[in-house]
Amino acid sequence: MLVPNDLPWHKTCDVAIIGYGMAGAVAAITAHDAGAKVIILEKQPADTHCTASSMSSGTFVCPNDVQGAITYLKTLWKVSDDLYWTPPDIIEAWAIYASQNKDWMEKLGAKLRLVRKGGEHPGVPGADSIELWSFRGLGLPMMEMLYGHIKARGIEVVYSTPARELLTNLRGEVIGVMAKDGMGEAVSVKALRGVILCCGGFEYNEEMKLQYLKVYPSWFDAHPANTGDGVKMAMKVGADLWHMNCVSARFAAKFPGFPAPFKFDFGGKGWITRLSHDQETAHPCGFIITDRYGRRYTNENFRVHSVYYETTSFDTHRLEYPRVPSYFIFDRVRMASGPLVQTHSGPAGPHRLYTWSPDNSAELRRGWITEGKTVGELARKLGMTPSVLRNTIGSWNGYCENGADPKFGRNPRELVPLNNPPFYAVQLLPGGANTQGGPRRNKLAQIVDPDGKPIPGLYEAGELGSVYGMINPAGGCNLAECIAFGRIAGENAAKEEARSE
Ligand SMILES: Cc1cc2nc3c(=O)[nH]c(=O)nc-3n(C[C@H](O)[C@H](O)[C@H](O)COP(=O)(O)OP(=O)(O)OC[C@H]3O[C@@H](n4cnc5c(N)ncnc54)[C@H](O)[C@@H]3O)c2cc1C
Repeated sequence: MLVPNDLPWHKTCDVAIIGYGMAGAVAAITAHDAGAKVIILEKQPADTHCTASSMSSGTFVCPNDVQGAITYLKTLWKVSDDLYWTPPDIIEAWAIYASQNKDWMEKLGAKLRLVRKGGEHPGVPGADSIELWSFRGLGLPMMEMLYGHIKARGIEVVYSTPARELLTNLRGEVIGVMAKDGMGEAVSVKALRGVILCCGGFEYNEEMKLQYLKVYPSWFDAHPANTGDGVKMAMKVGADLWHMNCVSARFAAKFPGFPAPFKFDFGGKGWITRLSHDQETAHPCGFIITDRYGRRYTNENFRVHSVYYETTSFDTHRLEYPRVPSYFIFDRVRMASGPLVQTHSGPAGPHRLYTWSPDNSAELRRGWITEGKTVGELARKLGMTPSVLRNTIGSWNGYCENGADPKFGRNPRELVPLNNPPFYAVQLLPGGANTQGGPRRNKLAQIVDPDGKPIPGLYEAGELGSVYGMINPAGGCNLAECIAFGRIAGENAAKEEARSE
């Protein structure tokens, strides 16, 4: 919006940051340490502030070899000779900065542990360069450490104040932000050097999800405050969009009566987090995944951050997505081996938005889990033809006996039969951690227009307009990007010449 001549400025800073998740915190610390006066505007109130970053597992990627990481990402995202999901110069900027992530976090006092070596797609060249590091204590303490640094630097955080519009001068440069405070009063913030959008994705905007994602509905466990505000604000000042149909997602456990979806622990005792990576130490309980008709359709040892795309198959005769919903099917053994969802991150994690019962009994009573004394009874309750589910489970048990899954090649260590009644099912919906789309950025974290020209004074970092294309390279990549591009955006915004109206 063109700034009105008579607009009173309520606050003035060098760099205004919109959104106080990890990207916002890193960008704020970086811009402040480069000499800029920084203000953070945050939509949520202080006392209930909760973000995807604070709900996360606090795991981030730090490549151990820049060239290897460049090779890995270029291979994953190259579509043809000159067409990439993300241009090579941006991949290079990511690899250089992300390889410093561990050092940068340790300088702030983070205590880290190496979780895993190797990307999510082990056969792809360069995958060995990827290392995953985790903040000891996970996402909430990680964010508390960053909040401490913001406070120690005296950076002003204005809570309950969602940004609504970017303000531009006659030259089309972004020179400020219009927000609304907790009482609904307008707050105008002048930003002399730049505005950095760090306000997350569009996980809770139904219209955007319908129009942009490959399957609907899709459910995400980020915070409901992430309603794509940054997408709209940037579009209004001429931004191009990218990666709008890309997600980091698998299956979401979304139940009636609770707003946010949970993350599954399919095999029990945290096995899901070791899926595809550490199969030698994985000891899952028996389980399978079926479509809505009771048919298996994938190797359940799936790629954790991209299996979502398998749910997008559409039946043009029936006019439906046969894999929406899918079902997580198991027996008494898995039921008795601990919570069906992860309790180290997400709504049942340290924020304790929901306390999941240790034996799943409360959720069975709530009707979130369906029980059948026999496979046929379970199928009837799910609206499936009983013979179809009986055949599926019969074949599965046969594969387990033979030690080989000829249909989808499941790891023999996971061929555990389903023969301990009662039998159970939980509905699986496409979804997971986050959307990746938003305004297109360049290697300096500047938001660009459809011709690739930077919109002066406008930057972004984090999952809003993420650099990640369709295939997510590894768990830990989103926080890696918050650190890497938070730093790039903070450095470059702080360096700008002060602008006038
Ligand atoms: C349960 C869970 C576990 C995850 N685990 C991991 C993991 O271990 N590793 C990993 O790499 N990724 C993980 N992810 C993904 C990762 O956490 C997110 O992609 C990342 O934290 C996004 O950070 P962000 O700073 O971009 O946005 P967020 O952390 O989502 O912060 C956005 C902030 O912007 C605010 N905001 C929104 N609109 C406005 C507005 N108009 N004005 C002002 N403020 C606004 C929001 O209130 C919020 O505070 C996980 C995600 C979830 C949900």
